[in-house]
Amino acid sequence: MRRKEIIPTPKTKFVRVRCPECSQESIIFNAAKSEVKCKHCDEVIATTTGGLANITAEIIEVIE
Ligand SMILES: [Zn+2]
Repeated sequence: MRRKEIIPTPKTKFVRVRCPECSQESIIFNAAKSEVKCKHCDEVIATTTGGLANITAEIIEVIE
């Protein structure tokens, strides 16, 4: 009998955020591999930590 290996994967999802600078909404990926900037004003709204992104903007909604 073989047992199935369960490999844990980090939860990646899209989140809707509000930029603290211009209050415009953006949809960003929470496992971004690089810095994410607001497309409206160029403010950095998420930084990468090597794994999940560190989102500095206000999260409005998590899109599953
Ligand atoms: Zn902005």
